[in-house]
Amino acid sequence: MKSRVLSGMQPSGRLHLGNLSGALSNWTKLQETYEGYFFVADWHALSTNYSETTQIKTLTREMVIDWLSAGLDPNKATIFIQSDLPDHAVLHVLLSMITPIPWLERIPTYKEQQEQLEDRDLSTYGFLGYPILQTADVLIYNADFVPVGIDQAPHVELTRAIARRFNSLYKPVFKEPQTLLTEAPKLPGTDGRKMSKSYNNAIYLSDSEKTLREKLRTMVTDPARKRRTDPGDPNICPVFDLHKVYSSTPVIEQVNCECRTAKIGCIDCKQFLAETLVTQLNPVWEKGCAIRKSPAMVDDVVQEGAKRARMTANTTMQKVCKAIGI
Ligand code: SF4
Repeated sequence: MKSRVLSGMQPSGRLHLGNLSGALSNWTKLQETYEGYFFVADWHALSTNYSETTQIKTLTREMVIDWLSAGLDPNKATIFIQSDLPDHAVLHVLLSMITPIPWLERIPTYKEQQEQLEDRDLSTYGFLGYPILQTADVLIYNADFVPVGIDQAPHVELTRAIARRFNSLYKPVFKEPQTLLTEAPKLPGTDGRKMSKSYNNAIYLSDSEKTLREKLRTMVTDPARKRRTDPGDPNICPVFDLHKVYSSTPVIEQVNCECRTAKIGCIDCKQFLAETLVTQLNPVWEKGCAIRKSPAMVDDVVQEGAKRARMTANTTMQKVCKAIGI
């Protein structure tokens, strides 16, 4: 029996290189050694975007296409959409009965996100309670591991605490999942800030080759390197940060050396990076194209995933109801 790993992603926008090099490439590795459950967290997207829902179905579908294009394999992993499994909501209600409010209020991301998203009214129960929904997402499948970045680790701790509370109040039903800390490289966007759709600086998986090349062409570099003959400093150049993630060691060494001596210009350097990225993204683009030509394939994947997920979720819910006595 393989250990089970579970993770989800909110359909809040198109996926970019930062998502590919972070969560997504991690998932494609995890599916080889774990029993993977990967889901589109469309209900979670409502916790901060409840007033703008027109795109949610399209983004959900596009997200599944991006996952499959990037190598997530429905023959190896269970891929599904959260809202296809109402049992997540039922377990959320039951767990919310036993979760003290201060446990939710002290989750660091609760205050942080409220401050960051000050244009929205996040004084809702849905926003305060979404870590309980996350807990339900994990516990309903008895996941052994939850892959998260360090900022999400308190959410897994909360999941463990709620599982312990349930097990001691009623009967031992839930496993306490472990955190699988994942390190994602910090990818700069075209303006040098962290790559993010909110900064409008991202290179998307669905960008065409032409768009990708154009975005790289205008990407910021070492600001002190104004002329072709000026030597540059790769350590302060966002283009070099992308080289470090995507290029081969000989190319990284060449750029590191020849930028400092002005042997290469930024146009040459970006050209090397463009060739590398095009080579690496070509299979993703080709797969995406093929999937878009047969839309029924996406429906099949998520329906089959929901079917498999439902069997596990139903078994857990029977134990939960029996333990509570309802
Ligand atoms: S040559 Fe490359 S690493 Fe050096 S400043 Fe230009 S883009 Fe950056």
